[in-house]
Amino acid sequence: MEAPDTGVDDMTKLSYLHEPAVLHNLATRYGIKEIYTYCGNILIAINPFQAISHLYDTELMDSYKGAQLGDRSPHVFAITDVAYRAMNNEGKSNSILVSGESGAGKTETTKMVMRYLAYLGGHAAAEARTVERKVLESNPVLEAFGNAKTVRNNNSSRFGKFVEIQFDACGQISGAAIRTYLLEKSRVCQISEPERNYHCFYLLCAAPPKEIEKYKLGDPKSFHYLNQSSCYELVGVDDSHDYLATKKAMDIVGISVEEQDAIFRIVAAILHLGNIAFALEGEDSSVLEDDKAKFHLQVTAELLMCDLEALETALCKRNMVTPEEVIKRSLDPLGAAISRDGLAKTIYARLFDWLVKKINVSIGQDPDSKCLIGVLDIYGFESFKTSSFEQFCINFTNEKLQQHFNQKPGGIISLLDETCMFPKSTHETFAQKLYQTFKDHKRFVKPKLARTEFTIVHYAGEVQYQCDQFLDKNKDYIVPEHQELLSTSKCSFIASLFPSLNAETPKSGKFSSIGSRFKLQLQQLMDILNSTEPHYIRCIKPNSDLRPEIFENVSVLQQLRSGGVLEAIRVKCEGYPTNRIFSEFLERFSILVPEVLKENVEENVACKSIMEKVGLSNYQIGKTKIFLRAGQMAELDGRKAKL
Ligand code: ATP
Ligand code: MG
Repeated sequence: MEAPDTGVDDMTKLSYLHEPAVLHNLATRYGIKEIYTYCGNILIAINPFQAISHLYDTELMDSYKGAQLGDRSPHVFAITDVAYRAMNNEGKSNSILVSGESGAGKTETTKMVMRYLAYLGGHAAAEARTVERKVLESNPVLEAFGNAKTVRNNNSSRFGKFVEIQFDACGQISGAAIRTYLLEKSRVCQISEPERNYHCFYLLCAAPPKEIEKYKLGDPKSFHYLNQSSCYELVGVDDSHDYLATKKAMDIVGISVEEQDAIFRIVAAILHLGNIAFALEGEDSSVLEDDKAKFHLQVTAELLMCDLEALETALCKRNMVTPEEVIKRSLDPLGAAISRDGLAKTIYARLFDWLVKKINVSIGQDPDSKCLIGVLDIYGFESFKTSSFEQFCINFTNEKLQQHFNQKPGGIISLLDETCMFPKSTHETFAQKLYQTFKDHKRFVKPKLARTEFTIVHYAGEVQYQCDQFLDKNKDYIVPEHQELLSTSKCSFIASLFPSLNAETPKSGKFSSIGSRFKLQLQQLMDILNSTEPHYIRCIKPNSDLRPEIFENVSVLQQLRSGGVLEAIRVKCEGYPTNRIFSEFLERFSILVPEVLKENVEENVACKSIMEKVGLSNYQIGKTKIFLRAGQMAELDGRKAKL
């Protein structure tokens, strides 16, 4: 009887390297819970959507420590081990780039990378272990405030993250820095079926009774920022347990009890703020809608420790500055609601930034560290029915990461900034400018009949973008009245999130561009990545139902294509991915055929005899180097290990 087909653990070993063979191999392996497969030195990870027993045990970590890449079955630990060893041996920084679409498993993979690094570079003495514990516990804290249930993933990261783990000369973790990118602010005020707001809101609503009373909370269904969707609970998640777990993680990363109180007070305040509804008064002014709105206004003011009337005025009115005087102009109910939501988003974004900064300070940076391992968990390519500014930034990032970058997206951001600075601009004028400027660009398309849409031909496919919110979303702007209100809060924590405006703050008409800041952050990220040796993990989402054991060919193929995996296979297989100088090769493998060294032959001849004795063909001998086919190096290493 033939042995059951278990697939090959490295795709470059496949005898026929076409798409169906690649898919079949992955599906076969997935069927027997082998979720990891190499494609040369890229690791493909297919989300199992179920816990696979012993897959991340300490015993397994032990077995990967120091092992050659091909020696053990493919695993995140193996790739991480290679990166760690390369760093130690060559004194060079390494990075691990984890990519894939939403729900593919990037964050889970990243956490495994971090756990394994903490295992390798951890300290023996318990009291010295605080650095790695803080690094690991930063994850649940950031997830509570930056993750949410979306259509695609019940625990979707709504921000990008780059964690830089620093090591000392002995290879022990000595510090870390976490950088985050583009938190999705709109989610704080606006969600749609079947999604949820950020986890922290539900966690807090499930807090012990004392907290519920203190923050005047209750049923999440009673809050406008939560009840726009009917999803409150997540299968398999206990919010009250997670509330306590988050607080524990906050303890570990060094957030004090007083700070935690202020943080959750802000979270509660945002919920109450969202319930302040407005009604029309007179022709175009607004007042609080009813007693319920008044109650929430009062609670919000208490929690934010700011003046009640000042809060109401800041929500319903705007200052108009004329040369003679400052006039208070009323906002209509819609304007007041927009003002309220803007305030909620700003507070939340500042809170998130504070958390990241605090965690960084608490973990501490090692100024003497020469080597680091960077771990990147960043949103993959996105194309929706309505793709807006966020998708544009995300796809721009992916272009850069894939090295397919060209000047155009940067040009679009500059044009957007120019448009934002011009007072009379609208999204229509922005679109017109785009059409004019990029009309001859190969990868820019003006769709037929379009007035405010544009299409970009990305490396991973075409995406049509809607311009209508680009201008607003690009403007990082806080209403001066909101700034004034919160900078004078009696809670020093809140006041510190809103340091007083000073002379450097942009004058009216000027604005701070989110797109440009993102572009700069991205450039800094690229600079770091370019100074490291990269390793790639491509996460694949096998089905859109988030269910185990279902492998949808079409979608997997699409992901392999857009992630550049198939391209990488092709390049690898056409060529000779590995080469070694003769002397290096002999030093490493002459042990397989010890007599070659005694024969006093030319180095190239000695290399040839080793390959022949081992039974490998199809390699090439150059002038100074031997060129190997994919998998041949692993085969040689394997033979060596068996000696
Ligand atoms: P997003 O871009 O939305 O943040 P993501 O790529 O980070 O998505 P994850 O949150 O890492 O996706 O994974 C989604 C879910 O898939 C996890 O919550 C978990 O249930 C499951 N999952 C991912 N990887 C694994 C794994 N290795 N073992 C078991 N389950 C996993
Ligand atoms: Mg994620």
